[in-house]
Amino acid sequence: MTVFSQQDFDGHEQVVFASDAETGLRAIIAIHNTVRGPALGGCRMWAYASEGDAVRDALRLSRGMTYKNALADLPFGGGKSVIIGDARSQKSPELIAAMGRAVDRLAGRYIIAEDVGTSVEDMAVVRNVTRHVAGLKDGGSGDPSPATARGVFMGIRAAVDYRLRRNSLDGLRVVVQGLGHVGWDLCRQLADEGVRLSVSDIRQDHVERAVETFGAAPIDTDSIFDVEADVFAPCALGAVINDNTLPRLKVAVVAGSSNNQLAEDRHGALLAERGILYAPDYVINAGGVINISHEFGPSGTGYDRATAFAHVDRIHDTLMTIFKRADADGVPTNVAADRIAEERFKLSRVA
Ligand code: NAD
Repeated sequence: MTVFSQQDFDGHEQVVFASDAETGLRAIIAIHNTVRGPALGGCRMWAYASEGDAVRDALRLSRGMTYKNALADLPFGGGKSVIIGDARSQKSPELIAAMGRAVDRLAGRYIIAEDVGTSVEDMAVVRNVTRHVAGLKDGGSGDPSPATARGVFMGIRAAVDYRLRRNSLDGLRVVVQGLGHVGWDLCRQLADEGVRLSVSDIRQDHVERAVETFGAAPIDTDSIFDVEADVFAPCALGAVINDNTLPRLKVAVVAGSSNNQLAEDRHGALLAERGILYAPDYVINAGGVINISHEFGPSGTGYDRATAFAHVDRIHDTLMTIFKRADADGVPTNVAADRIAEERFKLSRVA
């Protein structure tokens, strides 16, 4: 297994291998860049097929957090940690506490939070052994999903304004894929504005509830890509924009919460070629991390929901900046977003 010479290594500042014999903890903490501040990013617990896969994931995800935190205008750099193991069968409070001690040894260079396979309850356990933790229920920001949904809502507003020159969402047609924590709350906000919704979910009960609650049109999970509408909002899976789905889309905007929506970077360019405005996923879905970051409010003031949500709303303006930059530079929006992020975390080093 290689680290420095592998494709996902991108000048990461520090990669730590942490273990604990008593609990069986095997974890990797990757700190990509701390130019803007301590590295903030979640802890993923996953049954990786190999140690190499775990290293690759930590390198890739931590780099992503540097870009995400920079574009969310947070005073934080990018980091991520992974615990090797099955969260359902191998997680214990003792193991999570051992992970917390590993984080504590980094003395604040990395701030841990929940991710796939870890929960707010786990972060409460971590809090017993280190203060370098975010995403707490008691006295903290709690469930990140409402903030993520708010950010996506503001992002749709920005994209519709830019691409369709519409300020009002009334009568707009939006297709939402996935009616989970984020998708449901997004539907609620859109319905309140008079949006006509089409929805799909692999869970039929979620779809039926959306039909009853929002008067949404039910669509089966594969036909979702063929629906003629103004906006497609993926809120379920990654890699939804791919060689199979992209030619089928009949929308003007792709704007949703899913991570890694583009199967490959080149799909950003292909969307642009088709005249479809893409709101880069890591920008529009940053509401959760913005909300969590406010647990570290100005000296001792603590978390304030109104202040945090006002920050989330700035996703609208950030996306406008990205859309304009993409047009000015003649590049796809995902490339413009990366450029602006890089300018922010590279500029800070000079300042
Ligand atoms: P969730 O698990 O609560 O909801 C996902 C929903 O998608 C579920 O209802 C599931 O049944 C449905 N689904 C799964 N496969 C589907 C398919 N093929 N077609 C249609 N529906 C399908 O997850 P969530 O927290 O709402 O997050 C949604 C997406 O947003 C995920 O990709 C997640 O990584 C991303 N995201 C979430 C947050 C957050 O704060 N929750 C933050 C950033 C990014």
